[in-house]
Amino acid sequence: FCLRPASRRLPRSNTRHHVTTSRPYEELNACITQHAPSPSSSTQTAKTVAIKDNIATKDFPTTVASNILAGFTSPFDATVVRLLRENDYTISTKTNLDEFGMGSHTQSSSHGPTLSPYSRNGIPLSPGGSSGGSAVEVLTGRSWTALGTDTGGSVRLPAAYLGVVGFKPSFGVVSRWGVLAYGHSLDTVGILGRRLGDVSGVFGVVRGWDGRDPSSLTMRVRERIEEAREVRRRRRRRRKKGGVLRIGVPLEYNIVELSPLVRSTYIRTLERLQSVGHTLHPISLPSTKQALSAYYVLAPAEASSNLAKYDGVRYGTRPTDPDSSPRDNLPLYAQTRGQGFGEEVKRRILLGAYTLSSEARDNYFIQAQKGRRLVQRDFDRVFALANPLLDPPHSVPDSDSTGGEQDEGVDVIITPTAPTLPPTIEEVKRQSPVESYMNDVFTVPASLAGLPAISMPVGLSEEEAKGLEQTDVGSVGVQVMGQFGDDEGVLDVASMIE
Ligand code: GLN
Repeated sequence: FCLRPASRRLPRSNTRHHVTTSRPYEELNACITQHAPSPSSSTQTAKTVAIKDNIATKDFPTTVASNILAGFTSPFDATVVRLLRENDYTISTKTNLDEFGMGSHTQSSSHGPTLSPYSRNGIPLSPGGSSGGSAVEVLTGRSWTALGTDTGGSVRLPAAYLGVVGFKPSFGVVSRWGVLAYGHSLDTVGILGRRLGDVSGVFGVVRGWDGRDPSSLTMRVRERIEEAREVRRRRRRRRKKGGVLRIGVPLEYNIVELSPLVRSTYIRTLERLQSVGHTLHPISLPSTKQALSAYYVLAPAEASSNLAKYDGVRYGTRPTDPDSSPRDNLPLYAQTRGQGFGEEVKRRILLGAYTLSSEARDNYFIQAQKGRRLVQRDFDRVFALANPLLDPPHSVPDSDSTGGEQDEGVDVIITPTAPTLPPTIEEVKRQSPVESYMNDVFTVPASLAGLPAISMPVGLSEEEAKGLEQTDVGSVGVQVMGQFGDDEGVLDVASMIE
C-alpha cells in the first residue's frame, strides 16, 4: 500500500526549519500516506483533507495499519468524510498510524513507520502518534488539513512534535460513525492543520448530532452547552477590564521529567497571556497521578472487546492459505488473529482480557474506572463553567445567581502537551512499552474526562533554539483544555497563543 516511491525525497516543509532527513532513513519512510493521493489533490491543496486510515472511506482502502484488514475497502464513507465531501472538501489521501491507533510514535504500522521531517544529529525524530501520518501530511503542505483520531492524545502529541495545530473536540461532539473503534468511551475524531483558523473551519463542518452514532451528544445536551456558553460570555464581560480570562496552572503537571525547554516555552506562554491582562491561578488536580495508569487499563480493556470481532469470519482478512500454516491445528480465528495483529495490538488485547477477567477485574478494571471518575471530578471542581453532563450542574456558582464575584473557577487550563521534545526513532526503539506510554502523561487526563483540548505550537526563543544541539525542531506544543462542551472557549484561547 505504500504507493509513494521509497526513495522520493520528502517535500521540504514550508516552515522555517530545514528538513534534514538522511537518506537511509528516508528510504524507511515510505508510509506517510498509505494510498495514492487522488488525482486532483496535487493541483488543488486549498481544501484538501487527508484522512487517518482508521476512518472509513469508500474510495480508498481502510486498513487501520493492520494486516487484519489488509485490502479492505469500506462500502461507505464515515459520517465525517461524508460531511467533508458535501461541503466541497477533497479527500486527498489516507494517512499512516500506529496499528488501530495504539501507539505514540507511528512506528508500529503494517505499512512501515512514518518519520518526522525533523532530526537530531541526522537521526529522524518521532512524528508522535498515532496520527503521525496526518500531522506530517499537513506539516509538509501536501494536504491543507487532516483528520486524525485522539483516544489518549493521538492528535495532540503529533501536533506538538511537529509544530502544527491539533484539536481534540469534546467527546461526542463529532460523529464516530465509520471510525474503527479502539477504546469506545475515549475515541474522538480530531483535526490537524497548520493554522488554527483552518482547524476550526473543518471543526465547524464535521461537528453535529448523528443518529447513527450512539455516543453522539443529544440535541438537549448541545442546547445546554449553548446555554453554558452564554453564561461564560456574561461572566467574562462582567470581570474588570472585560474579557479577562482566568487561566488554571495545574501544580501536578510540574513534573521532574519536564524538559527545561518545554518548561521555559510554557512559562513564556503563560507570561505573555498575563502581560495582556489575563490572570494565572495555581490549581490542584490531585488525581492526575492516577490518570496514566487508569488510561492504560481502560483503553486496552475496551480494545480487547472492540477487536474481538476480527475473527476471520465476520471481519478480518484470513491467512491466505490457512491449511499450509504450521499451526494448522489452531482454529481459523486463532490463525487469523495470530497472523493479522501486530505485537503492540496483541499486547493490549492480552492485557485488556486479563484486566477484565473475573480474577483481576476488581483490582484493575474497577480501580481504573474509579480513577477515571476522580480525574473527571478534579476538573469539575476547578472549572468555572458547570459540566453540562451533570444534572444538577456541579460547579462554582455563577455570580449572576449570587450577586457577588464568587466565580473562583478557571476558564481554561494551560499545560505543556508533552513533557519533552520528540525523541529520535532510535530512542523510541530502545523504549520499553511503559516508557513509551509516558509520552501521554499530559494528554490522557482530558481524554478520560472527555474534555476539549488543543495543542498549539509555540516557537522557541532565539536563546532557547541556541540551546538545542543539532536539532531542527523549532517549537513546543502548549495544550489548552476547557470544560466539557466548551470547545469554542478552547479555540478562542488558542487564538491568543497562535
Ligand atoms: N498513545 C496512546 C495509546 O497508545 C494514545 C493513542 C490514541 O490516542 N489513539 O493508547
